[in-house]
Amino acid sequence: MAIKELTCANCRAPIYLDDETIRLRRQDGKTFFCPNGHGQVFSPSENDELKKTIASKDRALAYLRQRNKELWDEVQALRRSITGYKGQLGRMRSKIKALELELEEPVEEQVEVEAEKGGEG
Ligand SMILES: [Zn+2]
Repeated sequence: MAIKELTCANCRAPIYLDDETIRLRRQDGKTFFCPNGHGQVFSPSENDELKKTIASKDRALAYLRQRNKELWDEVQALRRSITGYKGQLGRMRSKIKALELELEEPVEEQVEVEAEKGGEG
């Protein structure tokens, strides 16, 4: 375990702490003291930073869940529209088919008469 030298922010006196204690104080943001009794903190602590990050992510997640729900509702509405349009389309096709059957003329064979053609020339 290595010892590191820090400097008091108030009186500039050296503060000797081991790596693990420095790591913990950076993480928890708790106070440690210089030899002259001045309290020191690493601010903001990693825990505070992480709490902010988590809160920010929670807000983003809540927004995305809400947006996801809105989009899902839109998709459901569009699906209902499509089903309605398919029904309309089916009915229109049936009407068109019925009209085509009504308009269909009986096919008559056309027979060319050779005599008429020859008479003109
Ligand atoms: Zn000090």
